[in-house]
Amino acid sequence: MGQRRTSDVRQQGVHPAMRRVRVTGAVATAAWPAGVALAGLPGVPGVLGGVVELVPLAALTLVLVLRAVAVPAGRRAWWCLAGAVGAYLLGAVGLDVHRHVMGLVERPWWADALQLGFYPLAFLALVLMVRGRMHRLTVSLWLDCLVTGLTAGAVVAALVLGDLLRTAAGGDSAALVGAAYPVGDLLLLGLLAAGLVVVGRRGGADWWWLVTGLVLFVGGDTVYALQVAAGTFESGGVLDLVWGMAFFCLGLSACHAPASDLTGSAERRDPLLVPAVCTLTAVVLLVHGYFRGGDPVAGALACGAVLAALARTALTVRAVSALADSRRQARTDELTGLPNRRSVFEALDGADDRLLAGEEVAVLVLDLDRFKEINDSLGHGTGDALLREVATRLRSQVREGDVLARLGGDEFVVLARDLDADGARALADRLRTHLRRPFLLGGMELAVDAAVGAAIGPEHSANAVELLQLADLAMYSAKSARLGAAVYDEDRDGHGRHRLEEVAALRRALENGELVLHYQPKLDLPTGTVAGVEALARWQHPERGLLYPDAFIDLAESAGLMAQLTTRVIDVALAQCRRWVDQGRALTMAVNVSPSNLVDQGFPDDVARLLAAHGLPASSLVLEVTESLLMADRERAVGVLTRLRDAGVGVAIDDYGTGHSSLAYLAALPVTELKLDRTFTAALTGSARAASIVTSTLQLAHALDLVLVAEGAEDAATVAALAELGCDVVQGYHLSRPLPPEQLEVWLHERAQAPVTSPG
Ligand code: C2E
Ligand code: MG
Ligand code: MG
Repeated sequence: MGQRRTSDVRQQGVHPAMRRVRVTGAVATAAWPAGVALAGLPGVPGVLGGVVELVPLAALTLVLVLRAVAVPAGRRAWWCLAGAVGAYLLGAVGLDVHRHVMGLVERPWWADALQLGFYPLAFLALVLMVRGRMHRLTVSLWLDCLVTGLTAGAVVAALVLGDLLRTAAGGDSAALVGAAYPVGDLLLLGLLAAGLVVVGRRGGADWWWLVTGLVLFVGGDTVYALQVAAGTFESGGVLDLVWGMAFFCLGLSACHAPASDLTGSAERRDPLLVPAVCTLTAVVLLVHGYFRGGDPVAGALACGAVLAALARTALTVRAVSALADSRRQARTDELTGLPNRRSVFEALDGADDRLLAGEEVAVLVLDLDRFKEINDSLGHGTGDALLREVATRLRSQVREGDVLARLGGDEFVVLARDLDADGARALADRLRTHLRRPFLLGGMELAVDAAVGAAIGPEHSANAVELLQLADLAMYSAKSARLGAAVYDEDRDGHGRHRLEEVAALRRALENGELVLHYQPKLDLPTGTVAGVEALARWQHPERGLLYPDAFIDLAESAGLMAQLTTRVIDVALAQCRRWVDQGRALTMAVNVSPSNLVDQGFPDDVARLLAAHGLPASSLVLEVTESLLMADRERAVGVLTRLRDAGVGVAIDDYGTGHSSLAYLAALPVTELKLDRTFTAALTGSARAASIVTSTLQLAHALDLVLVAEGAEDAATVAALAELGCDVVQGYHLSRPLPPEQLEVWLHERAQAPVTSPG
């Protein structure tokens, strides 16, 4: 519940405290015309009129402070902005009091100090906002900022501010202070331009209102400075409206909730475009200044921009060459200097096009004989040296334009163009002949041989990656039959190919969600209630229909897909369990796991992650393991099982009685359930011996504090006999076959409607 509420909030992107900020914003907006109207009323004294006019500014400061207090995201930036507007306001109020109350005409220095305080604080706010929107600010990004900022400054200085600055530079201190405003605006504009470059289009509404506000502010200030210089400024004109709008935009900015994720990556699609345009502009300004005697400030700024752009270019060139270097390294095998596995797969991609065009491509896989022995007996140093020598000899036999690469370990591959089966066989023989010449390593003579398998496209396959797999199959044939070299042969290697196709299909099935689960209910005999279900995997094959586990579990295990399959099964099963819990059905979920899961140290963490993802307690999951599985790598399996058990997950021994059960390890295992195999259950009613086995197993289970589940109860008599003997839980066709979830829900519903005295 709590979780859902937070996600709702996140979805709408509205911080609850934002509401307060917005209400204050609305009041502030209403206060603005009211303040202006009030100030204009006849009889309102000058000072009051002046101060009342500043009410909206005070309200804006309040809105900004509220935003900083209420919303943690970007708090420091909002404090700075509040400080900036607050300082400006204080200066303005002070000035009004100074003029109207004290009747002094001269502008006091502290009013300017306060109002100029707006700039550094606004700079800081901008910098903090930009920073908050970037994951990582790289040096190139800083340089981009610098180039853009300096160019923007140079343009403004050249176009409008040059004269103002020159007048101020030659004048008295008052003129200097007066010039500080346009300089502040200039810097702010530069910073804004730089910020826009870095943040791009993904700034969010609050960012864009802030930018609009500051642009209006700077624009208003600039026009003001020009009008003052020309002696045409009149108070209460359009400029007041512009400033009002500027502050209004800042208020709007504060009223927009921060969007959930604005932090963009520092990598942009056209990283050099803006700096390039800026540099060009700066150069134009410089050239123009050189011939026409332009403004020195603009010239200095443009100069700075060009220098920063040069540094940026140098950095980019270095980064690009480093990238090319690391790309090459990523495609090269460190030991032999040959292209590596990754490189092979890229070359195979390229070969596909040639195969499509009908060209012949041969793929040869070469694997050294007894390399492991050499490595183990003579040490890795000698092994490495041998691989290097082998690479050199192989290289001497491969035509220019063909690819020779190291696949890994002692396996090499050759991709050769325009080579048919005879050509491939001849090349394989040549390679082997060259390798059989003894190697001289560390004063020792080493004799080496290799097995080579080849596959030819498009004859064997029109897919280059498949050709590699077929060449591998041929290589195994060559190795096992001591043929030395072999070209792929459908009759001899076809079964391997079929298996490869099946593995590929299963992998696709796992990715495409073709794996579905059926659920078989487990009945609690003492209470007559369904306490849990077992999830059983089915493959909804697009061509072969619904397949049962015997058609794919072994395949998944041998192809190394078991971890993926089990994770998928647990995920789907827990999602279903969650849906049932939400419907008010509390059912434990049993899932079968295989040997490879239990030797995987990461498995308990995966299980914990999935339980947490579905919001279920560990006790809602039972993992079923078979006894044979526990024999494989017992120590590791017991470790993994203990961690699962400690976390609260149930552990059941499946098909109990069919494996090599040893009472000693049963006592030591962290188990909660025994599932008696169906061969014993089935024989129960017909044989006294089977009944004794069930009875004694039951006693054993209860003595060890374990739940006994009888599997495979196919008729009412068996269920009754099990209940009679005191069995805890029963599962079997008599109750229900494994069913898809919707059908199981119907079954559960019908059972609840018509409770039966005898189970089933
Ligand atoms: P299991 O875990 O012992 O599952 C019980 C099997 O017995 C199921 O076969 C079920 O349909 C069948 N069964 C249940 N009640 C009766 C009955 O009254 N009579 C008879 N004759 N059979 C009954 P299913 O679904 O074909 O599964 C076979 C095996 O495949 C499972 O044996 C389990 O070891 C394995 N398996 C199933 N799903 C998975 C999975 O997701 N992962 C792993 N690793 N193995 C699985
Ligand atoms: Mg099972
Ligand atoms: Mg079983």
